[in-house]
Amino acid sequence: MVTGGAGYIGSVVSATLLAAGHEVTVLDDLSTGHRDAVPAAAHFAPTSITRAEPVLRDNGIEAVVHCAAKSLVAESVQSPQLYWDNNVGGSLALLEAMRAAGVRRIVFSSTAAVYGQAAEVPILESAAAAPSNPYGASKLAVDHMLTSYAVAYGFSAVSLRYFNVAGALLSPDVQLGERHATETHLIPIALQVVAGERPELAIYWTAYPTPDGTCVRDYIHVRDLAEAHLRALDWTGTAGAEHLVCNLGSGQGNSVREVLDAVQAVTGTAPAVREAPNRAGDPAVLIASNTRARAVLGWSPTRSLNEMVGDAWRFSRA
Ligand code: UDP
Repeated sequence: MVTGGAGYIGSVVSATLLAAGHEVTVLDDLSTGHRDAVPAAAHFAPTSITRAEPVLRDNGIEAVVHCAAKSLVAESVQSPQLYWDNNVGGSLALLEAMRAAGVRRIVFSSTAAVYGQAAEVPILESAAAAPSNPYGASKLAVDHMLTSYAVAYGFSAVSLRYFNVAGALLSPDVQLGERHATETHLIPIALQVVAGERPELAIYWTAYPTPDGTCVRDYIHVRDLAEAHLRALDWTGTAGAEHLVCNLGSGQGNSVREVLDAVQAVTGTAPAVREAPNRAGDPAVLIASNTRARAVLGWSPTRSLNEMVGDAWRFSRA
């Protein structure tokens, strides 16, 4: 069962699971997801993560990939109750439903936001977790929940801490990508500017202590990310009562200006930009160490920044 399987990452994970021969049930309340993003071959349960028990039982679910969440940093600062209620309360209800239904394998969408302003890059999983907003704090709370459920109730759990996810899944029968009502991410915004759907892109600060003065992030293709979920799911089938935390990133950084160069290379057009003040809480550099994911899950990312931008561009045009 994939919660949030009508959303960006959950839909690509669902399609990747199906392509690998798994049977998939998508649970999604469509609060931010899209019905047409649920792959046709998946069963669909249009409900909340707080009502998962009958879905688990009726579909003979063996394992859960839990992607459903609220994920807007600014919204989490303005309306934290939504994040504690949905991300923490909702996840607790889901774990309790799993316990009642006897399902003890889970892969969870965690985030690099749990680290806050990391003292050292690349960021290891052992780095201090100090989230700088309620979104990151809510995800970290669930990571702790999973550790305790592994110890007390024998859950086999993996928290995947995503860095900057981009790109799309484009195949002859399925096209899945980012379609957020409120778009805050760099690559889709830059592509909207190129497409004439926005006048310009604000570069949030150009005087960071980085080679070109703009923020550096670790971008990872959503297809590479989805493949890591399959590896993690396999891991939960062989591990005992254990909670594994794994960063998912390329292990390399790209600045905002480098991303904009990739947008120009792919589309042939340089997006119009304006230099703007920094966005509150944006650290200068975030780069993952992916050594653990490579070693324990046997996973490695294979797709470049240009492929991410190219796939996102083709998806947005399709
Ligand atoms: N960014 C930017 N302008 C935008 C959106 C993002 O300059 O309109 C920068 C942002 O400061 C960060 C990087 O692009 O350094 C990636 O931001 P995004 O929101 O895509 O992901 P985040 O790193 O916040 O998870």
